[in-house]
Amino acid sequence: MSTFLVEIVTPERKVYEETANMVSVKGSEGELGILPNHIPLVTPLRIAPVTIKRGNVVDVVAVNGGFIEVRKDKIVILAESAELSKDIDIKRAEAAKKRAEDRLASKQDEFDYRRAELALQRALNRLNVGR
Ligand code: ATP
Repeated sequence: MSTFLVEIVTPERKVYEETANMVSVKGSEGELGILPNHIPLVTPLRIAPVTIKRGNVVDVVAVNGGFIEVRKDKIVILAESAELSKDIDIKRAEAAKKRAEDRLASKQDEFDYRRAELALQRALNRLNVGR
């Protein structure tokens, strides 16, 4: 079975590095399943889970936006933040969800509203991947 290297990197650290057979991401235009020997590509990502298949193992990482770059033998995902499911603090994500919902419910300017929407998306993504 052919493979490629998959790296997930944030400004803080390298979150993930494994040899894999398939990567599924949510791009700005929808779901994207990438197999080895895919044509080179750079595209933005949504706040969504990234799924990586390697043999019989499936890894799920909560990825907060950024980009995916498909190279010849390597996939690089560059994100603002990203967490492996085992590293997600559920209580923290629940608290972030509650804060964002409270902010969305209160009257405020468009900028703060958008920020709260993004914070809510990050929290829901973490809860989805971490649970
Ligand atoms: P919070 O309001 O809880 O800080 P946030 O969405 O604002 O959440 P980010 O700015 O996206 O947090 O991330 C800051 C750092 O904290 C990153 O390193 C990210 O991986 C980490 N992080 C955020 N939330 C969690 C969580 N629930 N579990 C584990 N790590 C988290």
